[in-house]
Amino acid sequence: MNINKNYENLEQSYLFSTIAHKVNDFVAKNPDKKVIRLGIGDVTLPLCKAVTDALHKAVDEMGVQSTFRGYGPEQGYDFLREKVQKYYQNRNVELDLDEIFISDGAKSDLGNILDLFDKDNTVLVPDPVYPVYVDTNIMAGRKVIFANANEENNFLPTVDKDINADIIYICSPNNPTGAVYNKAQLVEWIRYALERKAAILFDAAYECFVSDENLPRSIYEIEGAKECAIEFCSLSKTAGFTGTRCGYTIVPRSLGKLNKMWLRRQTTKFNGVPYIVQRGAEAVFSEEGQKEIKENINYYKDNAKIISDTLNRCNIWHVGGKHSPYIWLKCPNNMNSWEFFDYLLNNAQIVGTPGAGFGRNGEGYFRLTSFGSRENTIEAMQRFEKLFN
Ligand SMILES: *Cc1c(COP(=O)(O)O)cnc(C)c1O
Repeated sequence: MNINKNYENLEQSYLFSTIAHKVNDFVAKNPDKKVIRLGIGDVTLPLCKAVTDALHKAVDEMGVQSTFRGYGPEQGYDFLREKVQKYYQNRNVELDLDEIFISDGAKSDLGNILDLFDKDNTVLVPDPVYPVYVDTNIMAGRKVIFANANEENNFLPTVDKDINADIIYICSPNNPTGAVYNKAQLVEWIRYALERKAAILFDAAYECFVSDENLPRSIYEIEGAKECAIEFCSLSKTAGFTGTRCGYTIVPRSLGKLNKMWLRRQTTKFNGVPYIVQRGAEAVFSEEGQKEIKENINYYKDNAKIISDTLNRCNIWHVGGKHSPYIWLKCPNNMNSWEFFDYLLNNAQIVGTPGAGFGRNGEGYFRLTSFGSRENTIEAMQRFEKLFN
């Protein structure tokens, strides 16, 4: 046998292991100091009551002969797909049920969708970005090129007509920068994709954090998107499902063969999300569930505002925070990402994530997240302000 040599082209990521190593080292040398972690990329608030009630009920059903369920539909139960359909309808996006596919999260689907595309496609990925887009394509041996996100474009790469891309990744609101595209900017990307017959893979994992009604939460809010875009969404950040696992992917029928190909791919390689989890996910879309998840999202957003307000008072350039749990800041005093990491850890015992770990354009920038507790966020920002204001 021959192994898939493409794996040898993956860059080793030492980002999170280096952070852990440095923090452990600091804690061992300074056992009396309280370290506050604002580098977390995971939710911390628990599942809401509507969800846990639904999960309990579904567990009980599974233990009773008359309500027990075995294999379900690979693309998800209709009771959940109908809720997703209605969720889109609320934003005037009409989807047919067979365009909605329930999954165990966005990360798997973002990787699995590549089964549908030829290896010879060129892939355009923003830099900096969520590392999954790059690595899944490298594993398949595809050519990856980058769209530069930087201070000039407020970390929202714009269309470059001279670049030939067949598959385009867009993540809005973005991880790690928190930057979010407006409708006019997405119109440009859609126009480019339609002209080139390229596909847009739109990652909407943070759509719930968008609070401005004029900003798009789904790419399908923009005309022409159904002819070129696949959308990935997840309940991970929306409803605290990072450990529970449920998401959904929209493959419009107007994309031609791709809709049927994805169904074929899923029915062949995937056996569906657990019934119990789908009942929990269904509850997210109930009136009670929506109210409860909004409280959690607002908690994170209030943390983000505390961080952003502090940075404003310190005159530190940043994006994100308003429609995202992430704040992306320019390291003060021309420090590079890792210098700033060490400086913050040693002088304020705050842990963040060096921007350099997310791509070349991340150098000199830094990510803070609002997933910490209110108390810790306030304390961290007081320490921060003492250093920089
Ligand atoms: C967290 C996150 C996801 C969600 O992944 P799941 O597999 O659904 O947990 C997707 N995209 C981005 C950019 C993320 O940060």
